[in-house]
Amino acid sequence: MKNVQTEVLVIGGGATGSGVAWDAAARGFETILVERKDLAEGTTGRFHGLLHSGGRYAVKDRLAAEECIHENRILRRVASDAIEDTGGYFVTTPWDDPAFGDKFLEGCRACEIPVEEISPSQAFQDEPRINRGISRVFTVPDAAIDGWKLVWDCAKATTEHGGRVFTYHQVLGILRAGDVVRGAKVRNELSGEEFEIHADFTINATGAWAGKIADMAGCPGVQVLAGKGIMIAMNHRLVNTVINRCTMPADGDILVPIRTVSVIGTTDIRIKDPDEPDVTQDEVDRMLDDGEKLVPGFRKARALRVWAGVRPLFKDARAAETTDTRDVSRSHALLDHRDRDGVAGFLTITGGKLTTFRMMAEETVDMMCEQLGAQRACRTSADPLPSSKTGKFMWLGERLKEREATMHEDQLICECELIQRSSLERVMTQRSSTILDDIRRALRLGMGPCQGGFCMYRATGILHDVERMDSWAANRSLRDFLQERWKGVQPILYGDQLRQARLDDWIFQGVLDVEHLPTDQLDDHPASDRA
Ligand SMILES: Cc1cc2nc3c(=O)[nH]c(=O)nc-3n(C[C@H](O)[C@H](O)[C@H](O)COP(=O)(O)OP(=O)(O)OC[C@H]3O[C@@H](n4cnc5c(N)ncnc54)[C@H](O)[C@@H]3O)c2cc1C
Repeated sequence: MKNVQTEVLVIGGGATGSGVAWDAAARGFETILVERKDLAEGTTGRFHGLLHSGGRYAVKDRLAAEECIHENRILRRVASDAIEDTGGYFVTTPWDDPAFGDKFLEGCRACEIPVEEISPSQAFQDEPRINRGISRVFTVPDAAIDGWKLVWDCAKATTEHGGRVFTYHQVLGILRAGDVVRGAKVRNELSGEEFEIHADFTINATGAWAGKIADMAGCPGVQVLAGKGIMIAMNHRLVNTVINRCTMPADGDILVPIRTVSVIGTTDIRIKDPDEPDVTQDEVDRMLDDGEKLVPGFRKARALRVWAGVRPLFKDARAAETTDTRDVSRSHALLDHRDRDGVAGFLTITGGKLTTFRMMAEETVDMMCEQLGAQRACRTSADPLPSSKTGKFMWLGERLKEREATMHEDQLICECELIQRSSLERVMTQRSSTILDDIRRALRLGMGPCQGGFCMYRATGILHDVERMDSWAANRSLRDFLQERWKGVQPILYGDQLRQARLDDWIFQGVLDVEHLPTDQLDDHPASDRA
């Protein structure tokens, strides 16, 4: 068994863990980040896409609101490449109490969230699709944020500072020497190899799974409730501004325009197992009804896919039993296991929001520094992430502009998301992954209206070529990808998307017969030949 040595081991490659790794590496600690799947495959890759201004919490939870606006300002500077500055509206629909708007204004002002009431007619000019029954509109600095771009950039910053990132490495156990945590035993999920990572300090940033890792370290009772939320991506940007209902936080009250789609969400239902957040028909129906209240005609618009994410909501094990996850604090929890359990060299950070990931990481690394007796200043609020050095925000027109400049030289592989062959090959080489779903997250491959119908057989051929993988592995990758996409399409099959799914089925089953493509060398030979 090969052993690896490091100063800091961070477990969990979502926003929180990537943020902790970025922070620790930037302070000069030798750092390793491990993630059991691909980066941002947990909640971070399944969230709503909103960089909160804090407006949502201004009435209910002022501390959360203040944290959001504080981080919103910093992230616009240090993570601009992952942010589209859409701005946000809080709107009073016919179903909301107009008097709540006064409380909202007061709350925003108390938390120093820039807020302004504008006339509905002004809002209708900018957002012609929103409900004409809206009676009050407030502007706030909400924005859209791309969780994948953000996390990959944190990983890039980590490696630029000398750190290492191990994706597809699952923690199987926590190593202890007496009362001190000394790293973890991990398994490479692709090769099956198991080895130990010896670390001076270990940070558990596994979101909804944090209780399991804490248990492995011998620190029981870390209860992280799993609050499931579903979201539906609509084919178009029905709006270009984030639209929130001006009311107490509830289900289906936010519509976020992100990249080429707009996303309605979300729900909040407590579930037992964070690995199995299913989507029910009833939830889909309720979400579409809620969308209708913000944008009349929503139900007739084309829905692309639906997915669920799981909020990590920390609950003090000693508190009374809670069944409604909206009653659990949205703030984060940093657990000092030396004080709590008498176990040194180990911290857990969980809960919070993606918007506050950087601040959560800063607090965590500050506490680690204190325990290690190594005071080093945090750099992440001052030094931008590698792709954000120009300070430019993400811009929707970027790919079209690039396409127009190279139209005659570069092949277009994904028409929906305007992905050119050169970008695809570059990412496949950089990521060095044979998993098409990993390439999807990096480029939005197959995420447009056709859901991979026209680009995936092309991309599979290119992956086969670039990765020099055998045809069985390429077939497996294609099949896994299609299976994964189907999960998100199946619960919303109606209208145009049903027609699209039928066409995709003809292409992949009717023409290519993917179900019977050989995915193993043995498949090429009939059973009788093998004897
Ligand atoms: C429906 C929904 C909508 C949301 N919308 C927003 C929003 O719009 N704006 C906002 O600011 N916040 C939003 N949030 C909250 C936000 O998404 C989360 O707080 C945040 O993404 C959590 O990040 P994390 O890194 O802590 O957890 P995760 O992203 O879940 O990362 C934890 C990682 O740990 C890994 N892991 C688990 N066990 C192991 C192991 N044994 N070994 C190795 N790795 C392991 C998992 O695979 C996972 O990738 C939303 C949450 C939900 C559920």
